[in-house]
Amino acid sequence: RKVLVGGGSGFIGRALCKSLKKCGYEAILLSRTPGHSKITWSDLKKNGELPECDAVINLAGENIANPMRRWNESFKAELIESRIGTNKILTELIKKAAKPPQVWISSSAIGYYPTSETAEYTEDTPPEPENNFFAKICCDWEQSAILPSDHPSRHVTLRIGLVLGRDGGAIKSMIWPFWFGVGGVVGNGKQIMSWIHLADIVGIIIHALENDNVQGILNATAPQPVSNSEFTTTFASALWRPAFIPVPAFAVNMIFGQERGIMLLEGQKVIPKRTLESGYSFLFPDIESCLLDIVK
Ligand code: NDP
Repeated sequence: RKVLVGGGSGFIGRALCKSLKKCGYEAILLSRTPGHSKITWSDLKKNGELPECDAVINLAGENIANPMRRWNESFKAELIESRIGTNKILTELIKKAAKPPQVWISSSAIGYYPTSETAEYTEDTPPEPENNFFAKICCDWEQSAILPSDHPSRHVTLRIGLVLGRDGGAIKSMIWPFWFGVGGVVGNGKQIMSWIHLADIVGIIIHALENDNVQGILNATAPQPVSNSEFTTTFASALWRPAFIPVPAFAVNMIFGQERGIMLLEGQKVIPKRTLESGYSFLFPDIESCLLDIVK
C-alpha cells in the first residue's frame, strides 16, 4: 500500500512516515527537492498525473512561526502558496486520476476559529474568515482541497492544533529557555492553547487513513486544551525548572509582527468532537502526560 505524502520531510511528516512504515505502508515523499523515495512538486506538475498510490496526504507549508522571517507581504504570499498552491496541484490530479486514491487527507489549522478566552469551538463552528489573517488563510486552505461531492475518494481535513514533540515545532524553540530557567508565560497567560502530542497527530492521520467511516473535518487537538499559564507551569515542573520570566506582549509583537503575534498572544479553545465520535482514542489526552512523555 502506497501513500504519497506532501511535506513528508517536515516535523509531522517525518514522524508520520516512520509510523506508516511500521504499519506496512510505503511512503513516497513529495518535496521541493529531489532524493531517494521522493518526487518533486515540479515533476508531479510536469507528469500531469499522480504516481500510483492508495492515499494522498498533504502536510506541506512554509513555517509560519519562523522568527528569522520578517512578517511582510512576500512571506505571507509564501505561506499561502506553499499550502494552497500545493493543495490545488493535488486536488486537480486526484479529480482527473484514472484510478483515484481511496483517501485524500489535507491539512488546516485551528487558526480557522476566531480567537477567544472563553468560547469553545467544535468542527461544526461556522467560519469567520474576516476575523484575522489566519482565519482567512485556513478557510482558503480548506477550500483548495475540496473534491466534487460525487468523487470516489474519501476526503478528510485535519484542523491541526499546536503540535508538541521533542524534535521540532513549538517545544524545540521553548525547551532551552525553560531548561535554563528563563521561561515564563507569554503575554497575560490567559490565552488558550489547543495542543496535540506528535504521536496523536500521527495517530489521527493513520486512523483517518484506515477507517472508511472517517470523513470531513476533524479537529486534531487534544480533548483538554489549557491556558498558556497552565502550560507554562506544567512544562516547567516536568523539567524541574522555575518559570518566572514572562515574555511580554510587546516583545512578541516586536519579534513576530503584530498580525502574526496573535498566534502566540491569543488562542482558541478547540474540542475534537468529531474526532472522538469517529472512534479515535488519544494516547495523550492531558497536558501533564504529554509533557512528561516529551521531556523524559
Ligand atoms: P514543517 O515546518 O516541518 O514543514 C513541512 C514541510 O513543508 C517541509 O518539510 C517542506 O518540505 C514543506 N515546505 C516548507 N516550505 C515550503 C514552501 N515554501 N513550499 C512548499 N513546501 C514547503 O511543518 P509541520 O510538519 O510542523 O506541519 C505540517 C503542516 O501542518 C503544515 O502545513 C503546518 O502549517 C500544519 N500545522 C502544523 C502545526 C504545528 O504545530 N507543527 C500546527 C498547525 C498546523 P520540503 O522541504 O521537502 O519541500
